[in-house]
Amino acid sequence: MYNIDLSGKTGLVMGVANARSLAWAIAQPLALSGARLAYSYQGERILPGLQELTAGQDATLIECDVTKDDDLDALFATLAEDYGKIDFVVHALAFAPRVTFERPFIEVSREDWRTAMDVSAYSLVAVSQRAAGIMPDGGSILTLSYLAGERVVPNYNMMGVAKAALEASVRYLAYNLGPSGIRVNALSAGPVRTVAARSISGFGDMFTEAGRSSMMKRNIEASEVGGMALALLCEQLGSGVTGATLYVDAGFHSIGMFVPDGYEL
Ligand code: NAP
Repeated sequence: MYNIDLSGKTGLVMGVANARSLAWAIAQPLALSGARLAYSYQGERILPGLQELTAGQDATLIECDVTKDDDLDALFATLAEDYGKIDFVVHALAFAPRVTFERPFIEVSREDWRTAMDVSAYSLVAVSQRAAGIMPDGGSILTLSYLAGERVVPNYNMMGVAKAALEASVRYLAYNLGPSGIRVNALSAGPVRTVAARSISGFGDMFTEAGRSSMMKRNIEASEVGGMALALLCEQLGSGVTGATLYVDAGFHSIGMFVPDGYEL
């Protein structure tokens, strides 16, 4: 599939809920390139599906709710024990209470703000703190963002604000960890039909509109996120890139004015 050799490399993939998850689209090329992967999942509910998906891999599966410091400590202690060191981390998880996608942003409660920020932004910091301790040879940390962190996208609301914090955190983490040879980046993906995406009100229409309006006149495939992630996670290709948010969105983010079909300017 890709002529990249990651044999001897080890990494953690966080956020595979099922075969549609972007985390899974990223894990596949990593595994096919020879990397040894550990997966963390939030709760027991996910485990049987994850076991089935990863059946062909020599993978360690570890439960971790990123809002719990004890879970995070235990996750990285297990990784240190099993692998000694790791080379990369994929942070592909987010959550905001459903009501925040349904009500205007101005109505967001303090509690829902805290929850969304904790799971979707602070968790990258908490993970990076611990991952850096088992990356003695440097490494790469990658998270997933969305354009709603930079611009208003209807209904994203609190998740947009959390993605803004996530992208800023990527820059500060990259600055702190750069001298240790650890790179931190985000991929800002166009809409993909996943469980998390379906919790956003009006996602189906926005998906269609994003495809129609993008420069390439189509939506992206999850595998395209996987390909770009592979480049950022492997030293062979991504060694000079850190503190960046890169777009995998068929060019949607660069358009300044959308021209409706049938109109000519
Ligand atoms: P997904 O398959 O539903 O993955 C989201 C993951 O987050 C799930 O595995 C979920 O676990 C996990 N999660 C939520 N709360 C957690 C917690 N407290 N601790 C640990 N894990 C937790 O959806 P996805 O679209 O692939 O999302 C992955 C990332 O891509 C997210 O950051 C999302 O914002 C980003 N993204 C998605 C799109 C898109 O259109 N799909 C576009 C741009 C960026 P449970 O299933 O157990 O809750």
